[in-house]
Amino acid sequence: MVSRRLGVKRPQIYRFKLGAFEVTNILDGVFWRDGMHPRFGANQPLAAAQALAQANRIDATRFEHPFVPTLVDTGRELILFDTGNGGLARGVGVGDFSKNLPPGDLAALLPAAGYRVEDVDVVVITHGHPDHIGGLVTDGKPTFPNARYVFGAAEFDFWRRGENVREARKINRELFMKIAAPFGDKATFLDPGGELVPGIRAVDAAGHSPGLIAYHLESEGARALIWADTVIHYVMSLQRPDWTVDVDDDKDKAVATRKRILDMVATDRLWAIGYHMPFPSVGFVEATSEGYRWVPASYQLNG
Ligand SMILES: [Zn+2]
Repeated sequence: MVSRRLGVKRPQIYRFKLGAFEVTNILDGVFWRDGMHPRFGANQPLAAAQALAQANRIDATRFEHPFVPTLVDTGRELILFDTGNGGLARGVGVGDFSKNLPPGDLAALLPAAGYRVEDVDVVVITHGHPDHIGGLVTDGKPTFPNARYVFGAAEFDFWRRGENVREARKINRELFMKIAAPFGDKATFLDPGGELVPGIRAVDAAGHSPGLIAYHLESEGARALIWADTVIHYVMSLQRPDWTVDVDDDKDKAVATRKRILDMVATDRLWAIGYHMPFPSVGFVEATSEGYRWVPASYQLNG
């Protein structure tokens, strides 16, 4: 056989049991970004970020950024948390996202996960950033034709009003108004503490975005937190939760929220499901002397 280079092959679908719920994580795409610093730890010396990367055997000059929407089948409804990048990198929406985001594979991967786009009963948007709303529409129509929609009330209101949107997010606001705001007519809106469906409730995670909502899942005593973008990188954000992150809209508030959520997940021994954690993006959190450590799930959730 002539030697061939086959390239990287990786899993894109992972389903596990959480009590009576079935939870499916799907790798919508990955994007390689330059520079760990100053994206992470702009309030720290470069050498500190380099040392932390080195200690964790990861490149200090670039990192892989995964995008992982989550489906939860509660037995009554199929709920999708965030919609991935959709067609943004192919010019859908406004502006050119092709230099920042990969094409979204979520809809194409659904059949291999055992679902059709028509099967999704509820679409939940944790916050209004492009990589979470990009998959709401395909060819100008709703990607999930039978779904109802749920947004965080404060988050939706922030984008709709368009006041105090920082410069870097102005294009994001345009995008939100074009592809997400139209769903407002038939959406419902949740506040922190509110119940999405029995067993799933909203948790305040504002900071990364003005009204970011995390979701606490509980079924037959098994518990998990979909923390969305509270934590962006599995080393930088966990091991040094105090370090600022460039994509956090309110950096100080994001630090406080990150510490509160990480403390809750570690103390309450919750499973964490993280949109930007390395696939399959489920694990637990262990407290350390300076922060926390991401411990990926092995087989605990398979049985
Ligand atoms: Zn994100």
